[in-house]
Amino acid sequence: MESALQRKRMVDRYIRLRGVRSPTVLAAMEAVPREAFLPPDLAELAYEDRALPIGAGQTISQPYIVAVMIEALGLEGHEDVLEIGTGSGYAAAVLAEIARHVYTIERHAELAEGARQRLAALGYHNVEVRCGDGTLGWPEHAPFGAIVVAAGGPDLPHTLLEQLAIGGRLVMPVGTGRAQELVRVTRVGDAEYRREDLGAVVFVPLIGAHGWVETEEPDRGVWPLRNPGPLRAESPASRPAVVAKLVAECAEPIARIEEAPVDQLLDRIGEARVVLLGEAS
Ligand code: SAM
Repeated sequence: MESALQRKRMVDRYIRLRGVRSPTVLAAMEAVPREAFLPPDLAELAYEDRALPIGAGQTISQPYIVAVMIEALGLEGHEDVLEIGTGSGYAAAVLAEIARHVYTIERHAELAEGARQRLAALGYHNVEVRCGDGTLGWPEHAPFGAIVVAAGGPDLPHTLLEQLAIGGRLVMPVGTGRAQELVRVTRVGDAEYRREDLGAVVFVPLIGAHGWVETEEPDRGVWPLRNPGPLRAESPASRPAVVAKLVAECAEPIARIEEAPVDQLLDRIGEARVVLLGEAS
């Protein structure tokens, strides 16, 4: 009951008030228990509007962004949806509340297996999880009424565009910098696509044949891209040095204050309990 109340509050404060209007998306976000997709020690943060580490150096996305991306797909309920980047399985569960069937691909085997188990335990029988390179799509089940990519690529993979049904929509972060542009593509004909830019986002990289090569990941700084893992210190006395190292690893340089991406920063800060700014960090 408490989880349901927290979820309702999260949806009202961070999603509805910030402009997501689709009743089906809002209802789906209210239905999925986000805490079930987090490591137990992070469950208490489930209803803050922020990305959180889920292992393998990856993150569960910020709930607001999940809602924005799913709303942008314009689902009516009858679609087969392809998701690239299963991660924890959370967004797949939200999609499964709305769509007919969800096919979701994750490149890290341990995340794919964890998501598979969680989704089954919660009774999401209309989701199929595959471990592999999602940039190749899932041709056996194409065409898809919608495709959503939860990792940032250098460009739109032609493989995914080809697996989109006519009238279908693909939503994906695209860009080579620290932040990407959230792009929506609608397939309007056999070889005709309409592209719209929906705003700036920050996602972990899409690694694959039609994404980034692992060793060529762009240097996008860090949070939420790099997860330093649990704090490990040889002794209590060495803890300050370990903390200083973690802070240094997670710091994002701002070369020129006039170019600082302040709007994105505010979004990313969300309800964070601690924000470190400047050399006082
Ligand atoms: N949707 C996820 C959730 O609800 O927890 C969060 C996705 S996380 C931001 C991005 C995921 O994309 C990571 O788990 C990462 O391993 C995965 N990924 C990156 N490149 C991929 C690829 N080519 N194929 C499949 N998964 C990929």
